[in-house]
Amino acid sequence: MPRILIVEDEKKIARFLELELTHEGYEVETAFDGRSGLDAATAREPDLLILDLMLPQLSGIEVCRRLRVKSDVPIIMLTAKDDVSDKVMGLDMGADDYMTKPFAIEELLARIRVALKKHRAAAQMPEAPEEILTAGCITLDPTSWQVTVRGESVSLTRKEFDCLHYLMKNMNKAVTRDQLMNEVWGYDYYGDSNTVDVYMRYLRHKIDEPYHLKTIHTIRSVGYLFSYEEE
Ligand code: CA
Repeated sequence: MPRILIVEDEKKIARFLELELTHEGYEVETAFDGRSGLDAATAREPDLLILDLMLPQLSGIEVCRRLRVKSDVPIIMLTAKDDVSDKVMGLDMGADDYMTKPFAIEELLARIRVALKKHRAAAQMPEAPEEILTAGCITLDPTSWQVTVRGESVSLTRKEFDCLHYLMKNMNKAVTRDQLMNEVWGYDYYGDSNTVDVYMRYLRHKIDEPYHLKTIHTIRSVGYLFSYEEE
């Protein structure tokens, strides 16, 4: 059975999760602070992490960031805060999914199954080399994760890159927020398409504004469209 590491300082929640997950047949280990969570994740390579955001020693965000350098283990973040910026940060640091406390255990179990399945599918998929995309003076290389505008390298976060990649693959076609969510975050993001708008703003700041371009177009009540225009 898959092994799950729970990193949660609230003992009551940790114990509850441990019982429920063990009951589901998972092998469960628990850590109560960020430092020992990171150590356990590194030493024992679990199949999935349930990671609280607010932790003593190291925050969940920091654990996620450090772990992502060397591991693509699925991570589901837990937080007490229903705050878009926290979600964006957690997902940007490489968390796969996100749940706000209090949550229904059935929903967490469902998301665990989805995350494990996706991870297994990704591990089995042979990686086809992806082609370099260009639009006017913009170049996006999916293999080296490089984006250049007029020959200058533009530094994008992972999610920004994925958003731009998807938009450019669908050049001159409108894509919905749901499509972007599914493609970039990989699941239906319960009612939070705000996140997409946040990322479109980031991309405009990094690609459009500094180079006097207009590429990210808002299509009202639909979503977004990538189309290359110079101002
Ligand atoms: Ca906590």
